[in-house]
Amino acid sequence: MKQMEKFAMVKVGQRFPLTIKRLGINGEGVGFFKKTVVFVPGALPGEEIVAEVEKVHPKRIEARIQKFRQKSKDRVDAPCVYYDECGGCQLQHLAYDAQLREKRALLLQTLARYTEHDETFWDKLTRPMKGMDDPWSYRNKSQFQVKQVGRNVLAGLYAEQSHHLIDVERCIVQDPRLDEITRGVVEIVRDLQISIYDEKKGGEKGLRTIVVRVGMKSGDAQLTLVTKSGDLPKQDLLLKRVSARFPQVKSIVHNIQASKGSEVFGEQTQLLYGTRTIREEIKEIQYELSARAFFQLNPSQTKVLYEEVERMAQLTGKEKVVDAYSGVGTIGLWLAPHAGEIRGMEVIPDAVKDANKRVRAEGYSHVSYEVGTAEKVFPKWAKKGFKPDVVVVDPPRIGLDEEMINTLLKSAPKRIVYVSCNPATLAKNVSDLSQKYKVKEIQPVDMFPQTAHVECCVLLVRK
Ligand code: SAH
Repeated sequence: MKQMEKFAMVKVGQRFPLTIKRLGINGEGVGFFKKTVVFVPGALPGEEIVAEVEKVHPKRIEARIQKFRQKSKDRVDAPCVYYDECGGCQLQHLAYDAQLREKRALLLQTLARYTEHDETFWDKLTRPMKGMDDPWSYRNKSQFQVKQVGRNVLAGLYAEQSHHLIDVERCIVQDPRLDEITRGVVEIVRDLQISIYDEKKGGEKGLRTIVVRVGMKSGDAQLTLVTKSGDLPKQDLLLKRVSARFPQVKSIVHNIQASKGSEVFGEQTQLLYGTRTIREEIKEIQYELSARAFFQLNPSQTKVLYEEVERMAQLTGKEKVVDAYSGVGTIGLWLAPHAGEIRGMEVIPDAVKDANKRVRAEGYSHVSYEVGTAEKVFPKWAKKGFKPDVVVVDPPRIGLDEEMINTLLKSAPKRIVYVSCNPATLAKNVSDLSQKYKVKEIQPVDMFPQTAHVECCVLLVRK
């Protein structure tokens, strides 16, 4: 009842002074008004503002900056011309060294919220975040939605929570080679008057998304054209023009995403031109990338991340290692020269195919990958008597499945190296594992500069 009264006291449009205490998980500023948490997009830790209430929820308030009273010394002008409308980046207005500091702080707060330990405890175990010397043009993949407006074709990202597509000519966190190809494809699509899927009208036909991925080292590119239904309009002409204009595009793939949802890819993929995969290289290790396979978006920081994985795994050449949630086998192939045996599993069949292709090319007889979920495959191995010394897990945002956690606790490897892209699920999983494992150290690595995403590598050792 008390809560309700307090809640009712704040009204939309109301203004009050607010001190921003920290960053929220979406990069917004967080402060407190009469003990209620207030989220203010664009505000930075340390700033004094006048907040204007936009929405009132039972336990939180959404507000906007009505006026600054004291700006942060770390506030900078965002260099991107689309920054105010585009939802892709959240922290361009914060100086890069402050981004690293604040994202580390966000990690500590999240760990404290979902575990029994406080921030001071986690602070001692967590190293400074490793950032980039040049935190721009790092992304190796662009996924732009397309939209027809009159005779023009737009390609870019949707403004946050809206149907307004921002036509992005140059996205400064992406490798410029991606923009060049995307814009070229858009021009060709427009000239050929290829039909575009209309989100509002629905319907069955047309191009939805243009995905371009580049091998940073090889310079080879892969183009994926996503449509709503089976056919890619004017396919032959399109392929001819794209391949003539962009000889670096070595692979063109058609994917069908029939559902209305926001998932970029659907289940059906067909190779239209060139090779199924393109090549990437990180620290002299070769990787094969097919269109549907996950691959880290920031190759130069991936090197930093995997060096940490290698250091934490402490391999001597004899260990049995699991590479769980393996993608194209990136971590296992990295660790292969230092391990006795490596087994990995991954749900996307094409990614497993890419991993095993590299395993064969390297002539490794001690490395193998199979298709399946970690929570099914790992218990299956364990039942057959396989006992790993080190397990590396690199799950998607949702974290580890309960079955996976139970099997880890039962099989009890000496070390678990947990690569996490979501501090909240990391914290919950660390808590679940705490009956047998304790966190030895945490190394955050900035994989996504200018955004609020936090990635880290955690060493857990058996108690
Ligand atoms: N380790 C890889 C991939 C990490 S991304 C790298 O560093 O590149 C997480 C991967 O887990 C994705 O490839 C995704 O397809 C896969 N995945 C998602 N759910 C899974 C599950 N339940 N079991 C196994 N793999 C899963």
